Amino acid sequence: MPSLPVAVIGAGPVGLAAAAHLVAYRQPFIVLEAGSEPGAAIRQWRHVRTFSPWRYMVDGAARSLLERDGWRAPDADAIPTGGDLVDAYVTPLARLGAIAPHVRYNARVVSVGRRDFDKVRTKGRDQQPFELRLANGDTIEARAVIDASGTWLRPNPAGSGGLPAVGESDAHDRVAYGIPDVLGDARQRYAGKRVLVVGSGHSAFNVILDLLLLSDADPKTQIVWAMRKESLDSVWGGGASDQLEARGELGQRARRAVESGRIQVITPFRIRSISPLGDGLRVAGNDGVTLDVDRIVVCTGFRPHLEMLGEVRLGLDSWLECPTALAPLIDPNEHSCGTVRPHGARELAHPEKDFYIIGMKSYGRAPTFLLATGYEQARSVVAMLSGDVAAAERVDLVLPETGVCSTNVVGATSCCGGPAPAEVEACCSDDAVAKAEGKSGCGCGTTAAPLIQIGVRSKA
Ligand SMILES: Cc1cc2nc3c(=O)[nH]c(=O)nc-3n(C[C@H](O)[C@H](O)[C@H](O)COP(=O)(O)OP(=O)(O)OC[C@H]3O[C@@H](n4cnc5c(N)ncnc54)[C@H](O)[C@@H]3O)c2cc1C
Repeated sequence: MPSLPVAVIGAGPVGLAAAAHLVAYRQPFIVLEAGSEPGAAIRQWRHVRTFSPWRYMVDGAARSLLERDGWRAPDADAIPTGGDLVDAYVTPLARLGAIAPHVRYNARVVSVGRRDFDKVRTKGRDQQPFELRLANGDTIEARAVIDASGTWLRPNPAGSGGLPAVGESDAHDRVAYGIPDVLGDARQRYAGKRVLVVGSGHSAFNVILDLLLLSDADPKTQIVWAMRKESLDSVWGGGASDQLEARGELGQRARRAVESGRIQVITPFRIRSISPLGDGLRVAGNDGVTLDVDRIVVCTGFRPHLEMLGEVRLGLDSWLECPTALAPLIDPNEHSCGTVRPHGARELAHPEKDFYIIGMKSYGRAPTFLLATGYEQARSVVAMLSGDVAAAERVDLVLPETGVCSTNVVGATSCCGGPAPAEVEACCSDDAVAKAEGKSGCGCGTTAAPLIQIGVRSKA
């Protein structure tokens, strides 16, 4: 099989980082991208300002290749939009002479397997090439597969239990997922409308803040914000304690927007059904509460596309749908620091030899993925596939912390495995006060369990 390429699924920033590392190791490769251009998923949120400065957005091997081609890195402290990321980094990377000939666009992978071997057959399995079937019927053979196809195309539904709400799919012309550009190309759909935003993460903050600007221009625009959470208390993030300043600030801006009284907040609101009501929608939730709105924007996270991997022997965590060993590091039930212990090929391995999921998709349903993590994954996995085991195992990554701690795993260090920051201690003392007052607290400091135990988690 050595003459066969490594197949990389997805020409997003992480798939292209894998390509750059494959170039460095002189491995034959092919990148299969569903869209017609690199960074196709990010192009759909190009209007959104990210929260990481450029210093965290550029992969090391990619930078070397780009700089050799005369590329000049953007200001390390500037914070790009999705559009900047695509225009100033992802697209130039994909166009490099060392990469461009190996990228195939409009090449949606619909299934992956081993030639002549279904999932059950074992003997000789590792010697069989992989087959990747494309939507147009073509089959690509590969000696290894790196799935970096992200999760953007698989948004979670509005239904509060993870199933679509009754009637949700029938309402698709008035329901949007992700972060529609309500100040740009989607303006007419939202201006002057009563808009329900569902979800409590950064995407919801972005949509709400944009809708507020829209309502400045068109005061008839109304914003209703609903979420499953009992209250807004744990929604805002780490604020000034967040080591990514823009991420902390986003939460604070959303908080100020709510405090301004211009947003109707309904919590907890667990959506059961969505039905047509004239030109709008009636949304029914828990306790018989109903909301009548014109449009819904669903910001409830994403999930990985696993059906295409039905013939691959995966080792996935049963609820996060990420590689098993990674789950305890990123489980939002356990901690919310957004900082994970460095990990690489070893933690990302599956029972299927030479198959890896990296990038956003590697986090399954967990929401805290950062590009810097994906780049380190790409480096380690490509080193492993190139036989450089020592480099693969030398994972080294320090991520900026969110400044929020909701862990129940605190010892001498923070739940993320680094030294306990002052914020964690503050959180723990808040917790003690809350508990003394009979409240549930933030969950810190309740056990002296080991920091991170791979494979051992409490069921939330
Ligand atoms: C609004 C927003 C803001 C973010 N801000 C930050 C930030 O500030 N800092 C940070 O570190 N991270 C941030 N992230 C998280 C993350 O870094 C990005 O989502 C990043 O784009 C993930 O890169 P990726 O390459 O793993 O996946 P993607 O960028 O999603 O790329 C996947 C690619 O695979 C393609 N694809 C999908 N399915 C198939 C298929 N079946 N066959 C072939 N191709 C396929 C897609 O078209 C896409 O081009 C943000 C995410 C979002 C949504």
